[in-house]
Amino acid sequence: MALIECVDLTHVYLRGTPLEAVALRGVTLSIDAGTFVGLLGPTGSGKSTLIQHFNALLRPTSGTVHVAGIDLSQPRADVKTVRRQVGLVFQYPEHQLFEETVFDDVAYGPRNLGLATEEIQDRVQDALRLVGVDPDAFGRRSPFSLSGGEMRRVAIAGVLAMQPQVLVLDEPAAGLDPQGKQEILGQIRTLHRERGLTVILITHSMDEAAQLVDRIVVMNRGQVAMDGPVRGIFRRADELASIGLGVPAITDLMLRLRRRGVAVRPDVLSLEEARAAIWEAVRWN
Ligand code: ADP
Repeated sequence: MALIECVDLTHVYLRGTPLEAVALRGVTLSIDAGTFVGLLGPTGSGKSTLIQHFNALLRPTSGTVHVAGIDLSQPRADVKTVRRQVGLVFQYPEHQLFEETVFDDVAYGPRNLGLATEEIQDRVQDALRLVGVDPDAFGRRSPFSLSGGEMRRVAIAGVLAMQPQVLVLDEPAAGLDPQGKQEILGQIRTLHRERGLTVILITHSMDEAAQLVDRIVVMNRGQVAMDGPVRGIFRRADELASIGLGVPAITDLMLRLRRRGVAVRPDVLSLEEARAAIWEAVRWN
């Protein structure tokens, strides 16, 4: 069985009230261990509702969600085990920092697990290093004395200190300057490649998706509208446009060239690929 498996998952908020909202309607989706999935879709399409089912913050109204073989549609499911395995990083996670020191903040989760002092220390140091924060230089500082990018990384370290198998991030680079963005995204890529973490990334940036993910799931009005390898999805520019989504800037450039009669490949995802595609197209002219 896949690591995460939703079958016909429906979620209705405030059911039976005048404010009832159907956020997910019949989502069927499976995510294998070790993959890097981008979750895209317009605002209100159900992305955030969907990911909250992955660690049982929300339960299905109907349909099923299995995580690591645990059936979360059962009220008595082992939610604790699932929460240990699936780390959720919400938007602007730094708003949830609250301890007096960086160390204590990152140690909060491991302490709740009742781990030994030494193990906690190891986990905190390891997690801080993973996000590029030096534990010796920053450990005793107040999280509130850090820059925005550093605070965000400390908040992510708090989730990593739980040593999850799956990391789910909602717009982790939102609101950071270009350098801060690249740092965070680079670290997420490293976690995936070197630690084998399964990553699910909600993003509004097509460029981010093109840079990072293997597979894209596009949500629209509570349903999975598109699902497939990143290159195949960005070939479907018209379909994406019809639900208000674009393609990466470099892919867009290729499509413009094609409209002007330059026969470049349309499914280009990086500058290097663009260079090769243009060279290939003009070589024979
Ligand atoms: P996205 O993350 O793609 O922006 P959401 O999952 O946040 O989408 O929202 C999906 C739908 O569910 C929207 O119509 C939204 O208004 C509604 N919704 C989300 N959260 C709540 C809530 N706590 N109570 C009621 N409706 C909600």
